[in-house]
This record gives sequence, C-alpha cells and structure tokens, in this order.
Amino acid sequence: MPYQYLLFDADNTLFDFDQTAKDAFAATFTAFGMTQEAHHFEQYIQISQQCWRDFEAKKIDQDTLRRVRFELFFEAAKIMGDALQFNQQYLQNLIHHSSLLEGAYELMQQLHGKIPMAIITNGLKEIQRHRLNHTGLTPFFEAIVVSDEIGVSKPHAPFFDHTFEQINFPKKSEVLVIGDSLSSDIRGGHNYGLDTCWFNPKGLENNMEIQPTYEIGELEELHDLL
Ligand SMILES: [Mg+2]
Repeated sequence: MPYQYLLFDADNTLFDFDQTAKDAFAATFTAFGMTQEAHHFEQYIQISQQCWRDFEAKKIDQDTLRRVRFELFFEAAKIMGDALQFNQQYLQNLIHHSSLLEGAYELMQQLHGKIPMAIITNGLKEIQRHRLNHTGLTPFFEAIVVSDEIGVSKPHAPFFDHTFEQINFPKKSEVLVIGDSLSSDIRGGHNYGLDTCWFNPKGLENNMEIQPTYEIGELEELHDLL
C-alpha cells in the first residue's frame, strides 16, 4: 500500500452537507415560527460560502463568522430577527439533521483497521464532533482535528502541523489528503507536501493553478488508489 495514513475532510466529502444544511435551515425557520421563502436558502448559502472563504483567507475570525453570516442574510432578505439566536438554533439543527453521502459509511467501514485515518475539518467546535457521533463515524478515526478547536484552519500549514502531531508524524510521502475543496483541502495538502485526492462528484472545473494528485467522482474509486 503506497499510503500509510488517510486524512479526510468531513463536509461534502463524508457528510452530505448540502442536504443537511437545507434541512437544518428549514427547521430553524419553523422553530422561530418564521416563513421561509423559496429563494432564502440559496441566498443564505451564497453569503455563508463567502464568509467561509473570508475566514479561510484570514479576513475574518471564527467569532465574526458565527455572527455575521445570518446578520448579512437577514439584511439581504429584509428579515427582522436575532441573527445570533438564529445561528445557535441552526447549529443545533445541523447536528440533528446530519447525514452522510452515499457510500461514505461503507467506505469507512471497509478501510477501518486496514489503514489509519483522521478527520481534518474546518468547522465549528460546537457541532463538528457531535455530527461525527450522530452519524456513527467517530470510532473509525485515530484523530479528529477541528479548526475551531485549535485556532488554525486548512489550508494553512499550522493546521497540518497540529494534525501531524496528533497522528505521530507519519512520512509525508505516505499520507493522502481526500477532500472536496480545492482552496482548503487540495491547496492545503499540496502546500504541505502531501499527495491529494480531489473528490469532485459534480465534475467541477479546476480553477486553481494547483493540480491534485488524483481526482475521483465517487468515493469508492478511492479503493483503486490504495
Ligand atoms: Mg469539504
């Protein structure tokens, strides 16, 4: 086996974040007795993605991220409400509505015991471990690294320094990063000197100057690389 350690991103690599977010968003409107309009979710997702990009580029910190995404959404959608409370409820709902992508659980089950694996995720400390528990994934991993817990995020090198410390410093040439995000997973892994596997189920175009070592459209293709 060329690789001795696998580092998995969580959201939209193992978790079906798009569906989870949609369900949690709707449940949050219901919880506050508010009426969700058809365009609201897409509007929120655009804002939230921009906030995460700003966070990854270190333009805003994690506390600002927590606060500002629903503030901006409420402003754009002309909704009166408490953005912070809405965010809290939304985070709780994300835990309870968490679901996995097709084949993700089976893949983890098949690889567990054959090759050590860790989760490397840019996520909020309130929810990320709960979501791994909720979906039954926690026992499969030797380490779980959550950006918000350590104060650094992918793609930055200190995030990977922290990860390597957690997993007892394997040889970089024997570690593979698997993730759906070019800007955080693939860039981060590449810059750290690791091989990378871009999980690209939607067949998006690579708009970066960096090439992933591998590209797969389905999780089970990973077997062929190991
Ligand atoms: Mg992801």
